Amino acid sequence: MNIIKIHDRLFEPFILNDQIQKRVKLIAEEISKEYEYKNPLFLAVLNGAFMLAADLLREIQFQSEISFVKISSYQGTKSTDSIKELIGFTESLTDRDVIIIEDIVDTGLSMKHILEQVHAHKPASVKVATLLLKKAALKHPVQTDYIGFEIENKFVVGYGLDYDGVGRNLPHIYVERSA
Ligand code: 5GP
Repeated sequence: MNIIKIHDRLFEPFILNDQIQKRVKLIAEEISKEYEYKNPLFLAVLNGAFMLAADLLREIQFQSEISFVKISSYQGTKSTDSIKELIGFTESLTDRDVIIIEDIVDTGLSMKHILEQVHAHKPASVKVATLLLKKAALKHPVQTDYIGFEIENKFVVGYGLDYDGVGRNLPHIYVERSA
């Protein structure tokens, strides 16, 4: 496996697709035990979670639904307010058992906003599945119920994650090379 260059930065292989698939299968088993008869609604956060959502949902053999949402960031009335709004709901979340699928929890700010907005729709329950968690970077203590891998506080790309638009299609996860 080779070192790759994206824009101006070098990345080396970090978590290979085989490992990812094994972990995804285990998470699917855990979810299956808990949700088999609940018809849960998976809510995948675009763009980064598209690969995890596709692989995870292929492993889910019971009745469930999936919907895709996006976080749109825009400036609030004050230039310092960065407001993150969740857009793209097509189903009602009220009284549903919701499982949010996210690519990575870094500071936790995005997930904090997502959870607030999902809870505003009065779901029956909410759980969070994230492929990656940078525990040391967490500033906002958010719930993470199903975690693919806990990783160091380094920049990663691949398997849905991009660097300035590039790298989402890579089957493996790569980490930025230290200088
Ligand atoms: P948070 O709000 O938790 O600080 O950040 C979450 C978002 O930041 C993720 O959904 C992702 O888009 C981006 N992000 C955080 N860390 C990384 C990383 O190491 N690589 C990439 N490609 N994006 C990241």
